Amino acid sequence: MRGVRSPSLKAHVPSLIVLLLALPAAAAPPIRLPTEADRQLLIDLEGCRPAIPPARPPEILATQADIDVQSYDLSLFLDVANERIEGVNAISFVTSSSSPAADELVLDLDSNFLSVTRVVRDGVDVPLASVTHASDVLRILLAPAVVNGAPASTVEVHYEGQPEEIGNGFGTLRFETHAIPPEPLIFTLSEPYFGRGWWPCKDEPGDKALVSVHVEAPDTLTVVSNGLEEPSAVGRPGHRITTWTSRYPMSTYLVAVSVTNFATWQDSYVSQDGLTTMPVPYWSYPELEAQAREDWSITPAAIDFYARRFVEYPFLEEKYGQVSIPMWGAMEHQTATSYGAQLLSGDHRFDYVVVHELAHQWWGDLVGPTTFDSIWLNEGFATYSEALWFEGQGGMSAYLGYMRNLDRLPWTGTDFEGTVHAPGDARLFSDTVYRKGGWVLHMLRWVLGQPAIAPDPEVLMPVLRSHAAEHAYASAQTSDFVATASVVGGQDLSWFFDQWVHREGRPLYEVGWTAEPQQPTGFVVRVRTRQVQAGPTFRMPVNLRMTFADSSTRDEIVWQDQSEQDFAFPTVEAPVSVAWDPDGWVLKAVTTIDIDQDDDGFADWLDSCPLVPDPTQADGNGNGVGDACEPGIDFDGDLVLNESDCAPADPQAFTPPPDDALIFVARRAPGFAFTWTLPPAAGQRQPVADITHGLLADLLTSRSTAGGTCAAAGVATPEWLDPAPTSAGGDWYVVHAWNGCAAVDVGDTPLSACR
Ligand SMILES: [Zn+2]
Repeated sequence: MRGVRSPSLKAHVPSLIVLLLALPAAAAPPIRLPTEADRQLLIDLEGCRPAIPPARPPEILATQADIDVQSYDLSLFLDVANERIEGVNAISFVTSSSSPAADELVLDLDSNFLSVTRVVRDGVDVPLASVTHASDVLRILLAPAVVNGAPASTVEVHYEGQPEEIGNGFGTLRFETHAIPPEPLIFTLSEPYFGRGWWPCKDEPGDKALVSVHVEAPDTLTVVSNGLEEPSAVGRPGHRITTWTSRYPMSTYLVAVSVTNFATWQDSYVSQDGLTTMPVPYWSYPELEAQAREDWSITPAAIDFYARRFVEYPFLEEKYGQVSIPMWGAMEHQTATSYGAQLLSGDHRFDYVVVHELAHQWWGDLVGPTTFDSIWLNEGFATYSEALWFEGQGGMSAYLGYMRNLDRLPWTGTDFEGTVHAPGDARLFSDTVYRKGGWVLHMLRWVLGQPAIAPDPEVLMPVLRSHAAEHAYASAQTSDFVATASVVGGQDLSWFFDQWVHREGRPLYEVGWTAEPQQPTGFVVRVRTRQVQAGPTFRMPVNLRMTFADSSTRDEIVWQDQSEQDFAFPTVEAPVSVAWDPDGWVLKAVTTIDIDQDDDGFADWLDSCPLVPDPTQADGNGNGVGDACEPGIDFDGDLVLNESDCAPADPQAFTPPPDDALIFVARRAPGFAFTWTLPPAAGQRQPVADITHGLLADLLTSRSTAGGTCAAAGVATPEWLDPAPTSAGGDWYVVHAWNGCAAVDVGDTPLSACR
């Protein structure tokens, strides 16, 4: 089912910029992708339709489970003038395989507005004393009991009344009108528990049965239902009896009747083996025919698309029909989707609803939920099928964009509430079931597709095909799908479903990175990741994409399963950005953290001085605090503070001589001028200086300026530029205040200036 928010609720729709997907320009028919505003029209159906089942004691449910319905044959007279119905339902049943006998037939039937007038078992009236009808439960004593293995027994229930909504839903059968002048309009909606509002049945999805309906309605109206139409019969004056019969079993919530003065036309679909041409009929209000013809025109192509992706269309011997009813949404009645007339816009804006309901023919109708705890196998799958359809239209980028749009958190600021499996009655039709449920398949494709960074849909399809094959025309629950996915996927995937289907929430990642320079070249990209959500950690492969200055990228897939986990990758260049799951394969939220506060490439926990850029990470005193971080300290005891000490760890080299005021200059590049100020307090005897010059390499070897030459003497201005620097290897100079060009023991000489 797809629900769409009514216009009166649109005030809640945030005005958001919508992600538009890249599509081929020339597509026919025109593809209009849903905007987030369109999607926000979707209701969480709990808003208008709480799926609260009637409270029934477990012993009644257990008794009901003793029977296995084989078929329903429902005759319904629609008294349009009085908005009443008269019905007879013939229920054919055996005992369940696990039950030795059944001495009671327990059916669901609204007891407030419908009354039972007669019960017949195998042609014999059942005394009404053997029938009780209260609290929406109809109990019929079976005497003798039906024993296991006995032929099917048939019970006819005759009933009548004015159907009303159960609870505050909009389910059951309703008499309405449309058009001007008004035309009668009768339709049903039964999911999940409202079949009992208009016909007696075992209203549990897991017991599928064959269904025939015979609807007696004014002969000016058209009756649409499941299966194939049989020859009609004449009814009461002015009435016709229309019969529809299904050849495939179905759940009671999928049985539907829609009646009005429909306009009708049809397309066809040719099966994949080319042997069957199936009708694709449409019924719309006449006043909406033009819009419906446009919007529904994608149907044959969509059937073909899903038949190729999944398995052949499941109801090939019948049809795939769509019929308009008054509804802000749509409902996947088997072979006869009820489609909201409000959605017939004529501009394809609700294509996603068209394909959603179609996909339900596989996911929901072919394979139904054993109980509504597993409703995500319907709704999550159908929602994911929307994304597949748009991937077929626009490729991977369209697909990824569609999935991003399905994540609720970026749009609403709040995460999906509750769990995907067993969401609870109030959340049966919530975003959690639809959108997060769809994300479960998206992420399963990602996990099964490893190590691909953009797994093809075919990675997932074998799982879906096996699921369809194993439970075709029957029911499945979440555990069945987990088992199938594990077998087909070749690995035990219970960890995956435990975290995404049975638990709430998503990983909230914190991610930071840095590029640590290496010697002599290259970098190590370090990435720190954390999961900071409440509760257990998630285990997922995550793509980590590094982007470099030339726009090239490198993808690395890591398995992240710890509350804190670091990853490291050697690189030639430092990336300009590192993105965590940039394509959106993991349902998540990401917060960027700073793991390199001084931006020197060293992660803070590897940086002896994380607040000061210090690419050498020098720590001369070995105290774990980088030199650059220890200003005001003279740890080599040479009376020169670290911040002005070119070799703060070498006290022997840099003790200043007491009797000579001099300046030592080293340079590594030729052609620079240097200046000095001779310290008068040091006993300066003349305002001129002598300058000694030598090779820096020699100095480092000899630790003495003895090998130097006198480059200049009597320099009167405190500035000098060497006219003939010795080499590219670097030069040293000593400016002498009064010693002339004497050699200086560098072991006693502080480097006053380091350039
Ligand atoms: Zn749906």
